[in-house]
Amino acid sequence: MLDIKWIRENGDTVQLAAERKGIALSVRELLEADVALRSLRQEADALRQARNTLSTGIGMALRDGNEAYAEQAKTQVAAVNGQLAGLEAELDAAERRFRSLMELVPNVVSPDTPVGKSDADNVEIRRVGMPKETGFPQRSHIELGELHDMIDVRRGVKTAGSRSYYLKGAGVLLHRAVQQLAFDRLVHKGFTPVEVPLMVREEALAHAGFFPLGRDQVYRIDEEGRWLVGTSEVPLVNYYADEIVDAAEPIKLAAASSCFRSEVGSAGRDVHGLYRVHQFAKVEQVVICEADYEVSEALLQDITANAEELLQLLELPYRVMAVCTGDMSQKTYKQYDIETWMPSRGSYGETHSSSNLGDFQARRSNIRYRGAEGRLRYCHTLNNTAVASPRILIPLLENHQLEDGSIHIPEALRPYMGGMARIAPP
Ligand code: AMP
Repeated sequence: MLDIKWIRENGDTVQLAAERKGIALSVRELLEADVALRSLRQEADALRQARNTLSTGIGMALRDGNEAYAEQAKTQVAAVNGQLAGLEAELDAAERRFRSLMELVPNVVSPDTPVGKSDADNVEIRRVGMPKETGFPQRSHIELGELHDMIDVRRGVKTAGSRSYYLKGAGVLLHRAVQQLAFDRLVHKGFTPVEVPLMVREEALAHAGFFPLGRDQVYRIDEEGRWLVGTSEVPLVNYYADEIVDAAEPIKLAAASSCFRSEVGSAGRDVHGLYRVHQFAKVEQVVICEADYEVSEALLQDITANAEELLQLLELPYRVMAVCTGDMSQKTYKQYDIETWMPSRGSYGETHSSSNLGDFQARRSNIRYRGAEGRLRYCHTLNNTAVASPRILIPLLENHQLEDGSIHIPEALRPYMGGMARIAPP
């Protein structure tokens, strides 16, 4: 959400951001709706004022015994009430139209965001580590998973339908180990651990900027009128909704949660294996800070570095991409994706997404702080994956496989796996 006063003065910038993000919004229509709403509000205010004046007049006339005047004024009040009733319905419709257009307004993007249409236009910033030359045919994570009885997609689909899976044995140990390692690293760095609700109200998703545009991605629990979150970013941001926070120091939160995604719109894409599934686990970093782009940019670098550190601990080759306008969501001001080398895809695949949302999310959520000059201001918010599993199991299993089918366990994970240094050959 941007400030309407700012939009009035920067309509062209907002229109350009909408076009570049592929959002169907006409800023001209929004500004017309804004003018219409303001003029209806003024009209309604004027009528209410006229009614107040008439009512006061009636009281005085009755006191003075001027019945004729009182009767005449009462007729006028009835007429004003009639006008107001009609106007209030119009006002209501105008308010709804204005709000629905405002909900489509995208965040503007940082000056260094590449302009492009899709992920093909994202720009590589750096590469860390090199994919291994193994000299033996590499198995995919699905083959390795079956070989070690760790991943069972067939039974997952039997039980839960497409994009479902079971993890078993060492697969579960790895899945839990990566999350606990990521979580412990964040807590060590001063993030506050939070256990979050996963079924949330509709407003929570609107606050965090997932509704209305991402509505079809989210599962609704019919009887409850609540929704299953696709990321713990939603409950983490909502924790402070409608509050005034102390942002003197950035607020850093970490949650480990299940995530549920309908993946509508991904039909036919990544249908095999663990890449794109309906239910996964994610350790998430959320940061709330003062509204200063220098501060939030530095924090974006920090949370990106946290994810990179984890990939280095997992001994995985990756690259960092500057995400272009067309691949960004409505709420994003600046974004990096981290892609990790996945041998079975023969390419890097996205494993992390690091975003600065400026004050967009805080405006929707009404999260404010008192600035140095004493004025209340909306905070900046940021988020990044620390690790998402089972997607991370793809590079982990595939990059660390050995010729005999065994799998090397990176040292950092061993304490979480009872000291296991490798998954033995089948
Ligand atoms: P996002 O919250 O959409 O930025 O996604 C963060 C990370 O979660 C991605 O980089 C993936 O590692 C993981 N992820 C997102 N969607 C899925 C999915 N449908 N299946 C498996 N992992 C996912």
